[in-house]
Amino acid sequence: MRCPSHLLFKTQKKMKLTLHHHLAQLHSTLLYRSLTFLLFFQLLGLSSCQYEYKIDERLLTVSIEPLRYITEAIAGDCYTITTLTPEGVSPESYMPTPQQFAKMNDGSAYIYIGSLGFEMQNISKIIENCPHLYVVDVSSNIPAITHQHSCDASDSADPHIWTSPENIKIIARNICKALVHMDSTNTLIYKENLVKFNHHIDSIDYAIRHQLKDLKHRTFLINHPALAYFAKQYKLHQLSIEHEGKEGSAERVAQLIEQCKRDSVKTVFIQKQNSGRAAQRIAEEIGAKTVTINPLNYRWDEEILNIANSLSR
Ligand SMILES: [Zn+2]
Repeated sequence: MRCPSHLLFKTQKKMKLTLHHHLAQLHSTLLYRSLTFLLFFQLLGLSSCQYEYKIDERLLTVSIEPLRYITEAIAGDCYTITTLTPEGVSPESYMPTPQQFAKMNDGSAYIYIGSLGFEMQNISKIIENCPHLYVVDVSSNIPAITHQHSCDASDSADPHIWTSPENIKIIARNICKALVHMDSTNTLIYKENLVKFNHHIDSIDYAIRHQLKDLKHRTFLINHPALAYFAKQYKLHQLSIEHEGKEGSAERVAQLIEQCKRDSVKTVFIQKQNSGRAAQRIAEEIGAKTVTINPLNYRWDEEILNIANSLSR
């Protein structure tokens, strides 16, 4: 559904941000390029000489591509959505550039998963330094799986919540709630889009159930434990080479080979953002097929169908 007030919302709030006079020299391109994330926020917080700053009310930033897909589905053409992490990087270790943070700061909201490595490293600074940004943690009301994944030493909650359709539904509902809060005049549009999107999720869920209903051996191996929520929803068993954020040791690889043989593992997934060497080696050893996946694909629906498809092949 189109957003009727789309064009009316060209109003861009002007904010006056101020800079320390002795940091004015940082405008030089070379130095600017070398600014770290921290420096970016220092710039925001400084005061004295004045600097014109525009906020685009209709710009939202999300942390990863699957969130852009979901947010676009609910927001329709009421908002423009940008993603903080580029295609192909691991959100557990990636650090956005100062330019990316600056773009986020130009918008009106930041929508994020809640427990990804780079998100957790930066969220308190974002809240503190970008007070105009409406910050939305989409994991609210999703029961966390707390084993296996701990790329982040501080928290062992598995961050890959967007890999199961039932969670996608909760994420979509949380995003809808946030949009209604920010822009209540378009409540009806967001709610209608949510209903439509829920139908789409139901059809994906139905297709996956159909794919997996006769699957006898329900254990799969993966290089990085990105599919725990998917496995939980469809009563599958995920074995991961990476364990507590570390690559598998020779001893662990030997154990996994034994376990894979016992459980008749036929599929080894390789998440393309992480090393797949050990996975390749184990697949050869146990005679399983390898399937390269990208859980950070914008088209989360195609990705998840492909994953279910690979298991049933
Ligand atoms: Zn991950």
